[in-house]
Amino acid sequence: MTKRESRYDILFEPMAIGPVIAKNRFFQVPHCNGGGYRDPSSVAKMRNIKAEGGWAVINTEQAEIHASSEITPFIELRIWDDKDLPMLHRITDAVHEHDALAGIELCYNGMNGPNLHSREVPMGPMAVPIATFTNDPIQARAMDKRDIKNLRNWHRNAAIRAKRAGFDLVYVYGAHGFGAVQHFLSRHTNQRTDEYGGSLENRARLLRELIEDTKDAIGDSCAVPVRVLIDEMMGDKGITNNEMRDVVSMLAELPDLWDFTHGNWADDSATARFKDEGSQEEYVKGFKQLTTKPVVGVGRFTSPDTMVRQIKSGILDFIGCARPSIADPFLPKKIDEGRTEDIRECIGCNICVTGDMTGGLSRCTQNPTFMEEWRKDWHPEKMQAKGKSENVLIIGSGPAGLEAARALGLRGYDVLLAEAGTELGGRVTRESKLPGLSSWGRVRDYRQGQIEKMANVSVYFESKLTADQVVEFGFENIAIATGAQWRKDGTARHHLSPIPIAGDARIYTPDDVMNGKSPQGDVLIYDDDHYYMGGTLAELLINNGCNVTIVTPATRVSDWTVNTLEQHFIQKKLIHLGVKIVTTHSVSSIDHDHATLECTYSGNIQKIATDAVLLVTCMESNDQLWDELKYTDDKWSASGIKSIKVIGDAEAPAPIAWATYAGHRYARELDEIIDLDISPFKREVVGLSRNWS
Ligand code: ADP
Ligand code: SF4
Repeated sequence: MTKRESRYDILFEPMAIGPVIAKNRFFQVPHCNGGGYRDPSSVAKMRNIKAEGGWAVINTEQAEIHASSEITPFIELRIWDDKDLPMLHRITDAVHEHDALAGIELCYNGMNGPNLHSREVPMGPMAVPIATFTNDPIQARAMDKRDIKNLRNWHRNAAIRAKRAGFDLVYVYGAHGFGAVQHFLSRHTNQRTDEYGGSLENRARLLRELIEDTKDAIGDSCAVPVRVLIDEMMGDKGITNNEMRDVVSMLAELPDLWDFTHGNWADDSATARFKDEGSQEEYVKGFKQLTTKPVVGVGRFTSPDTMVRQIKSGILDFIGCARPSIADPFLPKKIDEGRTEDIRECIGCNICVTGDMTGGLSRCTQNPTFMEEWRKDWHPEKMQAKGKSENVLIIGSGPAGLEAARALGLRGYDVLLAEAGTELGGRVTRESKLPGLSSWGRVRDYRQGQIEKMANVSVYFESKLTADQVVEFGFENIAIATGAQWRKDGTARHHLSPIPIAGDARIYTPDDVMNGKSPQGDVLIYDDDHYYMGGTLAELLINNGCNVTIVTPATRVSDWTVNTLEQHFIQKKLIHLGVKIVTTHSVSSIDHDHATLECTYSGNIQKIATDAVLLVTCMESNDQLWDELKYTDDKWSASGIKSIKVIGDAEAPAPIAWATYAGHRYARELDEIIDLDISPFKREVVGLSRNWS
């Protein structure tokens, strides 16, 4: 095996963090996963795999320290009392199995925790409405001195429990708009007049006390890092970058490590559409020079050269990663082993975040095994050996077909990937040419790179296969991954059947635009899809010189992107670009020179003059091949066919992450006996209390 390149040696230097030693500089910062206390074994195994992949430090998501501050409906960890310890112990054991350090991010949400489950009255520095994503009609009450004393006790007790659970690092946390520490620090959320408000020193008092309490309670054997934001991104109204430089100077040597983030969660976890790799640099530069303690920061780092530069230029000591460690848990190992070309780079899409935002379980576009490590026994780097059959024909090289080819190749099958066009990637290749989406091409690049190394996987271009050809070829297994296309008749969520469209109306779909056939002049985009496509096409067309109006039945543009933390940025950008936004309206009919809109509330009608209408509505599967083949089982055995399956968008259109998942799942399940009557994954069921009366 080739060894790592010497210029990356610096990334593998051991570093002390207070009383503990990290074996290298790869630091998986805290990140949510949608599993939390509901799926503890899934969380533990996911962290275990990262430890195997070479990360020196592996942190949990936020762990709520007390029932008076929980963030239902979001599912994170809890360390309310000893009952949580077995779950947390499972995580620390899993991390220690591969000599990594386990960290826990203690959190008291305070005025961003609505307590919908515990029904306790939320508390914060001020009496104001709870700040959540959902405008809950609940207010926090202002903490008095006794409340602050209680909070310090709860934090101290949680720290002691964390140590008992086996954690090596126990965080004091206040960033991303979450946590009492931030709320006290910011003049935006702290307008107190006592010794916890007013001057910066006063606003930083709680932070200082929590660090001192935690150090005092467990600092002999556990490191105490602090995670704070270094700019609230609201100018003088909130915490400024300069102010945080003063805070860090004031408390410089108190914690064992400084972990810096900026803005709210959407700023800090910005998508590739809005921020590049290493974009936090401008905020974090110079902070390291204020302390002798190690500094960690993030930046969606996937390039080892960028990582080295961050360290050599004195910006960071540790390379903090959340999403890059999700997309590739083996990132450190691959650099160490001189296999940087095998890194599965995060594309910055934030599908992982949507798992947390929706109360589902996080998934990853690039790494379909994320959060399936335990419940499906899926390892991101290993596949089980092939089963009884020998070969597979995969039709279509979009994300589903490519991932199936890669994973089946790894299992040892002979794979033929047939593609109708002249390039790999399907929708990923097309969509990566849209504004802000170029990094999505990594979904193709990683897989293409992997299958090119496999002698048992071959690709045939310009091979648009018919049902007869498929049967004649004599492959044992056939996967139909022929994708989907956008509908041209207005059918989607709002209208479940086609809308009236005049014969001479100029109608376009996203496929037309991506194939180079763009509308001109006054263009109305009807977005009943609600994800990224409508917004990104509005940007493209206005940059092409069109006058663009985007109409949506939702109350905001690209409505679902609230879950990828992009919605605010998208709407802001479209407003700045001069796109006219019409919400809460559907398009009820389209004529040659105008479209008729209907208010979704009142039913009121208005007409808008337009040269062309771009329908971003929904997709229909390219399932013709599947339709022709699925009921021909009687002919299969004569042709040597054992199985034919439809996967990805050809089965049911969805975001790209669903397609890579479908391709991976197909590869895992080929030749396996699947009992459709039982749950397709292991699950944990709440332990009933013995005390029923
Ligand atoms: P998914 O997201 O499910 O992977 P895509 O739409 O991205 O689907 O990709 C489907 C791919 O299948 C496209 O590259 C398309 O050219 C190819 N394709 C569609 N029909 C056929 C066919 N009959 N034979 C071979 N390739 C096909
Ligand atoms: Fe990166 Fe997207 Fe995977 Fe999240 S889902 S880790 S942003 S590739």
